[in-house]
Amino acid sequence: MSEYSGYSLILSFTHFYKCVYFYRPEFKLMVNLILFGPPGSGKGTQAEKLIERYRLVHISTGDLLRAEIAAQSPLGQEAKSFMDSGRLVPDEVVIGMISAKLDSNPKAGGFIFDGFPRTTAQAEALDKLLNAKKFSITRVLSLQVSEPELIKRLLNRGKTSNRSDDRDEGIVRNRLDEYRRKTMPVADYYDRQRKLSDIEGEGRIEEIFNRLTAAIDGAGN
Ligand code: AMP
Repeated sequence: MSEYSGYSLILSFTHFYKCVYFYRPEFKLMVNLILFGPPGSGKGTQAEKLIERYRLVHISTGDLLRAEIAAQSPLGQEAKSFMDSGRLVPDEVVIGMISAKLDSNPKAGGFIFDGFPRTTAQAEALDKLLNAKKFSITRVLSLQVSEPELIKRLLNRGKTSNRSDDRDEGIVRNRLDEYRRKTMPVADYYDRQRKLSDIEGEGRIEEIFNRLTAAIDGAGN
């Protein structure tokens, strides 16, 4: 072997090593979305469509909590009284659930968080959990819907769903109050990270979905 080809062999080996060492597929390929917005803004409906488009694991804290209540677990029993009155469940409870859900999906290509984080403390905890796994939030999609429209949608849903918190106008109003006081500041938290996109949440489902995908696909370009 000539001196020259020996040298280029070393160079290409070094290059190969660097590529393997620095290649962290999750940084580039993972799409982690937060679907943000008040109760009744269409997060669940749009989450279903986004999961299909981007192949994401769906994490809805509301669904997880309702499953805990149905299973009559100690966690469910603790959460029930908060949910029945339209108040937020304590941060430690939901953060613990999220942590377990992330750990139980090690192969996920990305996550979509629906109804979480709902407080700034939850947002900070989520950043810590994701950082520890070398993941990060790609985009926060904030659905904008007027309050009269929200109340109309929630009470309508209450007629057909088995959710008692959608049937009583007093509970619906408590949930919207909790949103205004504790959840709205979360939008500022992500705005400071330049990850927030406001999305018009009224109109046809397909139209709203197109606005969401445009914001996701345009992110970072
Ligand atoms: P949702 O299905 O997202 O509308 O949530 C229903 C109820 O579950 C809420 O009114 C809260 O009581 C509780 N809940 C869901 N997600 C959270 C969360 N991230 N933090 C605190 N409470 C939550």
